[in-house]
Amino acid sequence: MPIDDPTTATPSEIDEELARLGIEHAKATDTVNGLTARVHRLVNDGMAEYATELQPRIEQARQTIAECEAAARPLDAEFERRGGWTRAWLVLNTGGHVHRTMECRTCFPSTRFAWLTQLSGHDETEIVEQAGKAACTECYPSAPVDIRNQPRRIKTPEQLAREAEKAERAKAKAAKAITAPDGTPLRTKGYGQIDTEFTARRSYLDALAYARYLTRASIAHHRDTIAEYREDAQLILAALAAKHGRTEDDLRAELAPKVEARWKREYK
Ligand SMILES: [Zn+2]
Repeated sequence: MPIDDPTTATPSEIDEELARLGIEHAKATDTVNGLTARVHRLVNDGMAEYATELQPRIEQARQTIAECEAAARPLDAEFERRGGWTRAWLVLNTGGHVHRTMECRTCFPSTRFAWLTQLSGHDETEIVEQAGKAACTECYPSAPVDIRNQPRRIKTPEQLAREAEKAERAKAKAAKAITAPDGTPLRTKGYGQIDTEFTARRSYLDALAYARYLTRASIAHHRDTIAEYREDAQLILAALAAKHGRTEDDLRAELAPKVEARWKREYK
């Protein structure tokens, strides 16, 4: 996310944005290089008119590069202004190491890194501790031996993104779910086990409208069934009230017009 005021942003926020800009910059650079090479080939082959058609795309990619650089400038300046902060990179190979800098002499120009922006500005002892055996001995020569024997606990940005997505999905599912007030499954006689709030609300309306219908039809004949549906409605109401931290009376009053509408539509 673009940063409005770098002076109040955390090192992680600034580096996360710099990492994003860096990726966009690299993509645009690839585009310029690839298209420029094509232009040269076309000109050499005497097809200069096709080459001209590629110019707008090259210009657009150059524009993106310039924009990325402009956006990165105040962020780099803030890094300098604060006298820098700790940063860490993970080499993207199996058994890749965590480094303090991409200039580490154990790495090569072709080495692919993940920038661990979540650790930016963190204490170096903490970074080493989380890196465990993945800590580069060149970058962190003072890392204690017992920490070097521990497994790596640092996650890659991709892993973090996946975990955040999973948590988001679980949250959305929990928002839709319903249980009995004690957290056990919400079991009813007429509707079986109810797992979602949507079904709970619909069943509540149905149960009360149907109980009312049976009451009108013959209260003596349907006594047990009426009692069962009323019981179901009560169970559902208690579950809904518990989920939303409301009183049953409050919720019953709120749902009453819907019960009425349901009754009119289905049974009257
Ligand atoms: Zn290193």
